[in-house]
Amino acid sequence: MKVKVLGCSAVELPHARLTSFLVDDRLLLDAGTIGTVLHEKQQSKVRHVLLTHAHLDHIKDLPFLADNIALHNKNRHLKVYSISDVISALKTNIFNDIVWPDFTKIPTSEAPIIRLETIRAGKSFKVDGFRVTAYEVNHAAPAVAYLIEDKKQKKLLYTGDTGPNTKIWQSLDTTHLHALITEVSLPNIQKNIALKAGHLTPVLLKKELEKMKRLPDTIFITHFKPVYKKKVQQELKELNISNIRLLKDGDVHEI
Ligand SMILES: [Zn+2]
Ligand SMILES: [Zn+2]
Repeated sequence: MKVKVLGCSAVELPHARLTSFLVDDRLLLDAGTIGTVLHEKQQSKVRHVLLTHAHLDHIKDLPFLADNIALHNKNRHLKVYSISDVISALKTNIFNDIVWPDFTKIPTSEAPIIRLETIRAGKSFKVDGFRVTAYEVNHAAPAVAYLIEDKKQKKLLYTGDTGPNTKIWQSLDTTHLHALITEVSLPNIQKNIALKAGHLTPVLLKKELEKMKRLPDTIFITHFKPVYKKKVQQELKELNISNIRLLKDGDVHEI
């Protein structure tokens, strides 16, 4: 499984791009950054998008991806999967013919550019050769993590934005994760803000890892704010966990 980091930042700046990961050139995990990284041809390969939650830093480029598809090939469509809260937020607030055209009805309601697919946490489903399972996580807005397994049985867990959890680690039990992509948004001193907003600090991450029965082969860290990067990097080092790696925009990792 190849994972390309289109963006792994919680803010947008000339040197920092919003959250998005591309799996095997065709499956998108979140949609914060697409058009500034992927050319039209690369965008046309994307057929499926898994959204963790509806915060703008995770969905910002979805409307523009839909528009590019409409411009180049109206016969193609994009399936966007998430829990019902996220799907209804997209319908009400984005594809509502006010903020952006309703691509769930363009060119026709029967064969639209965007098909919104409501999924349920805990229930596995198939997406383009991948087996996917969503798990509820603890964030300021309704949100899920995704376990993605490819045909070679490689397993990636992407938590999206999350604070401390228990249920997900119980559900995964002894599952062998080849990679975990999880967040550390804030440094340790901002623990209270992190808990309130549903985010992790380095020490809170360590507590999450202690709840796991088996540590993932590699732990990739995303969603830090550039202003705290050095601090977070230092505090992650102090955890003394050898297989933690801070992600960078543009990274490509083979899992
Ligand atoms: Zn969020
Ligand atoms: Zn976020």
